[in-house]
Amino acid sequence: MSFATCLRCRECGREYALGPFHVCEFCFGPVEVAYDYDAIKKVVSRERIAAGPASLFRYKDFLPVEAETAVDIGAGYTPLIRAKNLGKALGLNNLYLKNDTMNPSWSFKDRVVAIASSRAREMGFTKLACASTGNLANSVSAHAAAAGMEAVVFIPDDLESGKVIGSSIYGPTLVKVRGNYDAVNRLCAELVSVHEEWAFVNVNIRPYYAEGSKTLGFEVAEQLGWRAPDHCVVPIASGSLFVKIRKGLEEFAKVGLIDAPRTRMSGAQATGCSPVATAWEEGSMNFRPQKPKTIAKSLAIGNPADGYYALCQLRDTKGGCGNVSDPEIVAGMKLLAETEGIFAETAGGVTVASLKQLAERGTIDPDESVVAFLTGAGFKTLEAVAEALDPALVIDPTVESFTAAYASYRSLEAAH
Ligand SMILES: *Cc1c(COP(=O)(O)O)cnc(C)c1O
Ligand SMILES: [Zn+2]
Repeated sequence: MSFATCLRCRECGREYALGPFHVCEFCFGPVEVAYDYDAIKKVVSRERIAAGPASLFRYKDFLPVEAETAVDIGAGYTPLIRAKNLGKALGLNNLYLKNDTMNPSWSFKDRVVAIASSRAREMGFTKLACASTGNLANSVSAHAAAAGMEAVVFIPDDLESGKVIGSSIYGPTLVKVRGNYDAVNRLCAELVSVHEEWAFVNVNIRPYYAEGSKTLGFEVAEQLGWRAPDHCVVPIASGSLFVKIRKGLEEFAKVGLIDAPRTRMSGAQATGCSPVATAWEEGSMNFRPQKPKTIAKSLAIGNPADGYYALCQLRDTKGGCGNVSDPEIVAGMKLLAETEGIFAETAGGVTVASLKQLAERGTIDPDESVVAFLTGAGFKTLEAVAEALDPALVIDPTVESFTAAYASYRSLEAAH
């Protein structure tokens, strides 16, 4: 049985039934799932969670779905790595990486879709849809396939081939929209009223979707030995993930699983699409929408739905926000791969480059425990780095050919 009680408006507090519903009818504020924390506190324990499945459904007491009938393709419970090499390179003595590239469709979006698809099926929907910057389309297509639901996914027409094929393989109706994500999102907002029988995971059932991101906060706390980190560095697209990670830490504290978090939350954005970072630098709580132009396409949301709440969280937790260029993103992807053996997509490059920027600025203290979130896998965005890497040696199948090629390669390396 789920402990979710209702949907509650984040602005005026009005309550609504747990249906396919996302904005307050009274003040147009976003609604969020509310829970009976007293009831959760009575049943939950560290042991109960530790005995649960190796997926995000180990945190079922904090999720708005019935775990028994959930769509579970293994999302979540990804590794938390102690990153000594990258830490040394950046002057951070207590750095951890949350490797969410290791999800079923290779991005953190499997967390939000695991919850959204489960709740959609519970509510009787047979069709899953979404407006996506790429990873969400991959994940909706994968979960719909496993759930026996139909998928209709909408993406901008300029995505990387890994993101496009990474959806097509699961057999959805894949719709490429001539326009950027903000246009795709506007279209889907209109389509919701045309197709009320469709569950758009990040539109009409967004409150359930958003709950999936909390599980990253839960997992990090559990994996650190039931304590919150001092500082998190999180990539920001709509801002939902950024806000929900801390909600997860706060919920754990609310039921006594960890001490009250003092976690500072820092964001990471690409300069080519940095509405939150720019507002933060200007000391403003109102961001201006931007027209995205960056290789970090999964983060290219120019008008972020949770941008205001992201700015509030930066202020309230005394965080900072990285703002990094495309060359810095590529360098971040290479640095991560060369120091820790992890190949993350462009969003990971944004996170690592932001980590470097925040460490250099002194926003991150060298001795704080820091968790950086790697949210998508590098094979999805090969185009972004292909030109920036050393080419392979091409040889004949003879020892002589290899010896000559290797020697000239070594002397070139030495000359660099
Ligand atoms: C969607 C996405 C994010 C951030 O998502 P929010 O919209 O801010 O919740 C971060 N990284 C990757 C790789 C993503 O696909
Ligand atoms: Zn309201």
